[in-house]
Amino acid sequence: MPETLEHSAAAGHRFDTVLIANRGEIAARIQRACRELGLKTVAICSEADREAPYGSTADSFLCIGPSSAAKSYLNQHAIILTARLAGAGAIHPGYGFLSENAAFADAVEKAGLVFIGPTASSIAIMGDKISAKRAMMAAGVPCVPGPDTALPDDPATIERIALEIGYPVIIKAAGGGGGRGMRVVPKADLLHEAIALTREEARKAFGSPSLYMEKFLEHPRHIEIQVICDDHGNALWLGHRDCSMQRRHQKVVEEAPAAGIAPDIIQPVGLACVKACLQIGYRGVGTFEFLYEDGAFYFIEMNTRLQVEHPVTEMTSGVDIVQAQIRVAQGHVLDLIQGDVTCEGHSFECRINAEDPESFLPSAGVVTHLALPAGPGIRVDTHIHAGYKVSPYYDSLIAKLIVHAPTRAEAMARMREALAGTEVEGISTNIPFLRALFEDGAFARGETDIHYLEQWLKLRRAA
Ligand code: ADP
Repeated sequence: MPETLEHSAAAGHRFDTVLIANRGEIAARIQRACRELGLKTVAICSEADREAPYGSTADSFLCIGPSSAAKSYLNQHAIILTARLAGAGAIHPGYGFLSENAAFADAVEKAGLVFIGPTASSIAIMGDKISAKRAMMAAGVPCVPGPDTALPDDPATIERIALEIGYPVIIKAAGGGGGRGMRVVPKADLLHEAIALTREEARKAFGSPSLYMEKFLEHPRHIEIQVICDDHGNALWLGHRDCSMQRRHQKVVEEAPAAGIAPDIIQPVGLACVKACLQIGYRGVGTFEFLYEDGAFYFIEMNTRLQVEHPVTEMTSGVDIVQAQIRVAQGHVLDLIQGDVTCEGHSFECRINAEDPESFLPSAGVVTHLALPAGPGIRVDTHIHAGYKVSPYYDSLIAKLIVHAPTRAEAMARMREALAGTEVEGISTNIPFLRALFEDGAFARGETDIHYLEQWLKLRRAA
């Protein structure tokens, strides 16, 4: 769309240089999007990442601290100072690290820089799972049965809440994340012990003992909705993804769209997400996560950042989510309307992790040989190359293998081919396990839920 006065960026948002406050594949992905938009980039690294390939393609590359993430990628002061010294006007936090840290978003804006993400107050509301649930209920988004308030201390009241919800229930830390701070309670006599343990864990890991309780759904699928909003009152949803293939609550394979869900069932949920965004004045990209069981959707949380699995939505919707995210941060009006969003075909993403395919223990070391697949409908998001040293300090994700094809069956076949053409030597990876998973009949038929992968692994081990 040509720029008009109305469509040009607001003066306060203008920037021509972006500091990318992250590492790995997502640092490379964001840098590409910036360059395509004509923006300059500042890459940062810890001492362990000095050789990162995206360093040499950035306009500046600065080491901001030691290998420990706490002293580098989580060092807010060092990152903001580096942005100012390097002349960056904006900071892109990527995912993980500081991406959902409201205090950081606030400090970035206070330093006169643009935080490429929502406002600090949106992050704070959604970062607390209780306030997020309350905001969603108010906007008419369907939630998991259970109160939208923190659990009291009084044992009798807690017992009453559990009985009202009905066992099994799940106790969750309001500040939890990364699959931690959750405990399932199958029956009443285990309730108080579970609460004491989760409270202690929450206090230690998330700095807040606040807990809440909801119904534990026994065989749901994990389905999420991608949204994008500008600063001018426009919000859109870009379709849905299924991320049910999880191990220890961590996603392993994602796909778009979620198979077998009729448009008239998902449509109202997508529209409710859009309405919720408008109600809370949300800006930027975000994901509403739901559990889906017996034809009904239940909101569990909102992620106020770019997701690892955003490529499957890019492949089906044709929207470059990272570019769109940067453009709305610049103050531009979204150049799409809901009616323009059409999702076509089917996409899968496999997370290639540097880990043992049997024990799942991280595997560090030098990649001695690398072959990546190519061809129609194949995309690889990675930062590694032959000779790259995988360090033990960070997340084990080394590449994302993404495919797109007209149908789900064709996309599965394409992923099998892509996995067959992927070779990583020198370190262990989960590729053998992904290859086996894409041969699985129940997965091919879409007969899976969030427990399927763990059960499949158990059966495989026993065989
Ligand atoms: P986190 O912020 O740690 O990722 P989520 O609330 O997104 O936590 O939940 C992570 C995963 O835990 C979900 O994808 C699902 O597998 C499981 N889970 C969460 N809440 C429930 C629930 N009420 N019933 C069943 N499983 C749940």
